Amino acid sequence: MKKLGITLIAIFLCLVVFYLLILKPDNYESKDMYDAIINNGYIKVGINTDIKPFGFVNKKGEICGYDADLARNIAEQIFHDKNAVKFVSVTPNNRLIKLSTGEADIIIATMTITPQREEIINFSIPYDSAGLAILVKSSSRVTAISDLADQNIGVVWGTTAEKNMLSMVPTGHVIGFKTYREAYLALKQGQIAALTSDDTILNGYALTDSEVKLLPKRYTREPYGIAFRKGKGAAKLKEALDSAINDLKQKNVLSSLHKKWLVSKYSWEE
Ligand code: GLU
Repeated sequence: MKKLGITLIAIFLCLVVFYLLILKPDNYESKDMYDAIINNGYIKVGINTDIKPFGFVNKKGEICGYDADLARNIAEQIFHDKNAVKFVSVTPNNRLIKLSTGEADIIIATMTITPQREEIINFSIPYDSAGLAILVKSSSRVTAISDLADQNIGVVWGTTAEKNMLSMVPTGHVIGFKTYREAYLALKQGQIAALTSDDTILNGYALTDSEVKLLPKRYTREPYGIAFRKGKGAAKLKEALDSAINDLKQKNVLSSLHKKWLVSKYSWEE
């Protein structure tokens, strides 16, 4: 009898563990994401680390740039502490994975708000914007997107440019790279006729390297948003992020960051 009781208790416990770990009921798995961030005392921010002037590593090994400064300002708004940030390095191609696994709480990485992305993740209100542009070698005869037909066109995997080039230049040979650095080197070495992405990003190369130039025309509007997961607590997180962005806009913090990182190329050497 005693044996039967122990067996029944063991079966019951196994069922509970199975229920919690495998079936993952809502109230077990989906912790409130906003409360979890507040309880941690810091926010995990996915950031680019090879995109000047948005997110890159300076000579002292520190992560800096416009998006990094924005992250610190968001932390100040939420925790009253600019250092309550843990940076997680992301690329355009892995940022959604790092967000969905919880490695990052939010992504601040020149990420365009698009309807397709909004189907799977949330965005804050826009904090900045860019436009699709084309970077070519200074000696290139390419002057517009129409000249890219049948040419090798470089994009970074996972960017809006990847998708846009496939539809805007159907006869182009779209070649994907994991990072902007790899794509930029391919342009310099003549493996691709052009590198396409946001003007704000490509301008970083054009301003510091006279061997490449940015063509004047813009082909899309790319509003940048802070990305975060859908789920429990998302509404509270959105409210916190949106009100932080509104406050930073009102106090001209965003416009001074814009000046600091986009106008003065010298500050990029920090
Ligand atoms: N803003 C574009 C995007 O979200 C390109 C920049 C990037 O994130 O690498 O795909």
